[in-house]
Amino acid sequence: MTAPAVSAALREAAALLLPVACAACGRPGEALCGGCRLALRPDLRRRRLDDGVEVVSALTFEGPVAAALRAYKQRGRTDLARAFAPAMRAVLVECALAHGLLLDAVPIPPSAAGSRRRGYRPIELLLHHAGVAPLGALRWQRATDDQRALGVADRDRNLRGALTVRGDPAGRAVIVVDDVVTTGATLREARRALTAAGAQVVGAVTLAATPRVLPARTSPPESPGDSS
Ligand SMILES: [Zn+2]
Repeated sequence: MTAPAVSAALREAAALLLPVACAACGRPGEALCGGCRLALRPDLRRRRLDDGVEVVSALTFEGPVAAALRAYKQRGRTDLARAFAPAMRAVLVECALAHGLLLDAVPIPPSAAGSRRRGYRPIELLLHHAGVAPLGALRWQRATDDQRALGVADRDRNLRGALTVRGDPAGRAVIVVDDVVTTGATLREARRALTAAGAQVVGAVTLAATPRVLPARTSPPESPGDSS
């Protein structure tokens, strides 16, 4: 087991021993209460980005979904990976049915700062709980500004050229996996980097999608990694 995996496993074990509250609404006694758990049932939505890639998302980023996802990424609630697994599995299965079963799932990596702070890699952990081994083919090659402070056009500019490929994904059919899609800027940059390296990006999946593209400064989080 890698160090982040051990750390995540210890956190999950600790969450079982310590008193817990619902990550989404704060109700004591359960890691996620019955009402909030219902909100995590997948309800698939599709959206085509302007580079032609179709994104399939399982949840709407609002209410209990947004609260639970923030707790998962920002407050170390790795125990929620299990609660998110059915939604993540649903979008992966949908993509596999549409594009074939021999797909590699390439997660958007967390930023270096996000990895150090958390000690776990949220999207890879989600994939593991959904029963899929991630292909870690992307890494950030430079720092980027927090996407939340930017408008739609600036989000693209901020991320352009920021991702690079590790290993050799040439000739592989891949899907890009992220937690939340807002404007699609992160997914577009991932597709650019992977395509330049010879991979075929057949689609993208995210756990959640924002209900709409919001103006700058009120937007919900978008990767890279630690911004959401
Ligand atoms: Zn709740």
